[in-house]
Amino acid sequence: MRMSQLFTKTSKTAPSDEMAKNAQLLIQAGYVHKTMAGVYSYTPLGLRVLENIKRIVREEMNAIDSQELIMSSLQRKELWTETGRWSDELVDVWFKSHLQDGTEVGFGWTHEEPIIELLRNYLKSYKDLPISVYQFQNKLRNELRAKSGIMRGREFIMKDMYSVHATREDLDVYYEAVIAAYKRCYDRLGIDQDTYVTFASGGAFTKFSHEFQTICEAGEDYVYLHRGKNIAVNEEVIDDAIVELGVDRSELEKVKTAEVGNIFNFGTQKSEEMKLVFTGEDGQQHYAYMGSYGIGITRVMGVIVEKFADEKGLVWTENIAPFKLQLVAIGERGGELANQLYGTLMKAGVEVLYDDRAERPGVKFADAELMGMPWRVTISDRGIDSGEFELTSRQTGETVTKSYDELVAFFID
Ligand code: ATP
Ligand code: MG
Repeated sequence: MRMSQLFTKTSKTAPSDEMAKNAQLLIQAGYVHKTMAGVYSYTPLGLRVLENIKRIVREEMNAIDSQELIMSSLQRKELWTETGRWSDELVDVWFKSHLQDGTEVGFGWTHEEPIIELLRNYLKSYKDLPISVYQFQNKLRNELRAKSGIMRGREFIMKDMYSVHATREDLDVYYEAVIAAYKRCYDRLGIDQDTYVTFASGGAFTKFSHEFQTICEAGEDYVYLHRGKNIAVNEEVIDDAIVELGVDRSELEKVKTAEVGNIFNFGTQKSEEMKLVFTGEDGQQHYAYMGSYGIGITRVMGVIVEKFADEKGLVWTENIAPFKLQLVAIGERGGELANQLYGTLMKAGVEVLYDDRAERPGVKFADAELMGMPWRVTISDRGIDSGEFELTSRQTGETVTKSYDELVAFFID
């Protein structure tokens, strides 16, 4: 992508109406546009990051035999009255509206009830089980406070997955497989070091649900950690958990975290409420066992910004960066050689953001730092004379010099 063609522009200052660092930087660098508090649009740069996060999550969900689908945002009221969750007292984030004929509809804040209704159509026999399905979907929630930028949206992207099983044992095995898959996701997303499987409030059939909590100052949760024993407990269940886990409160360290994922074991509770049944080997009707598993895609993006950005701007890891490198051309001959390098790398499938604008070097370098690609390559007249070009790591700020051929080899191998 040539920067001269990129319609978004960086701005010199952070937006004044935005308190969260993640949104400030993403807006300033041209990755997102704020529509209103808690509602953001993603520009081509922002979309590339989201798609990279989704690709990782998609690969890991496919690897545990889940099948991707996409469900509607508009939902029928009747589904929710089956479980009592149409109630605004029980669910305080509902956006609701009505059709022209007066029929009430809700905007999906989760798809637990709708997925059961969908699966009821297909589930007949134990031979149809297990089933696991997932989607990347825009959830709509009328959140009271939306002050954490893209980490708490009123509209946000969630990966939600649902699994259905014939037996409790089968669900338990799958639940563990999901935990392992989630760990692989956070590992590939670069936040595994600081992400903990955390005991949190219930589960219908289990005492606790499990959250994936990432240590992050900008988060909204508090977690008690035992790093040695690798135990993490959400503040909300700390008293229960201490008893259950046999640890002493004084051994635990209180840390600020962001919830990047959440998984629930529903047992047969939801199936009983909504009559999700199948014929067993014994010829009898049985309620299915169900689990529900979420990852906050846009929240993860915000957490990554918060954790890795520095005073100069965004810092992306290679796995999710929109482009692998920002190629900066300086001078006339520099421009010609940069054109050539851009063509070579593009042909090899390397993602390059090519700063071909007629701007001063200082402006280009500052933008490269703000936009945060893992590598910056500078092709200047001076470099051509010396035969050495600068390769700068955004993460460490270190610069090494390489010949033209070495640069090509660095990115293509
Ligand atoms: P929270 O406790 O942060 O309000 P939740 O428990 O209501 O979240 P879930 O319904 O479990 O969230 O949703 C699954 C995942 O979606 C969460 O783990 C989180 O990563 C993400 N998520 C939830 N609400 C939001 C939001 N308003 N904006 C962005 N991501 C969110
Ligand atoms: Mg949660």
